[in-house]
This record gives sequence, C-alpha cells and structure tokens, in this order.
Amino acid sequence: MLHPDLSIRRPKMCKHSTPCPPADAIDHDAARVTASFPEQGWSLLCNGVIVFDDTGELMPDGSTVAPHRGPAPHKPVLAAA
Ligand SMILES: [Zn+2]
Repeated sequence: MLHPDLSIRRPKMCKHSTPCPPADAIDHDAARVTASFPEQGWSLLCNGVIVFDDTGELMPDGSTVAPHRGPAPHKPVLAAA
C-alpha cells in the first residue's frame, strides 16, 4: 500500500549544509530552488513549496499564498478614460 501523505508532507530531506527553512517558516521562500520550470512559470523549492512567477505560492499541504510582489501592480491598471 502506498502512503501518499507521507511523501507529500516531506518530499525529501534537506541536504544543504545550511538547512532550508521548512515550508511553514516565515522565510520559507528562502529555500533553495531544486527544480525550475520557467516555461511553465514556476519553481519547486527544497522545502516542497512551489513558487510561481507572480510570487504566488503553493504549499506542500495544498494551501496557497496570494502573490505578494512589491508596489508595482502585476497587471496593467486600466487608465482612466
Ligand atoms: Zn535544502
């Protein structure tokens, strides 16, 4: 029998000499990128977090974080007519 929840919660042990922050840490997006798919617009971090080009994030537990890019709007603001 497979136990998918075990592999989903902790995709792999962190092997970095300075361990990456876990997915539930405030600085989770400081983890190393283990796989990058720029053509698809996302990267997989060492702690299992998926980061999208728009800075949105998908956590290993399935929860999401809304894009949190700086002051510049991601989409063009409609100019007043
Ligand atoms: Zn790591």
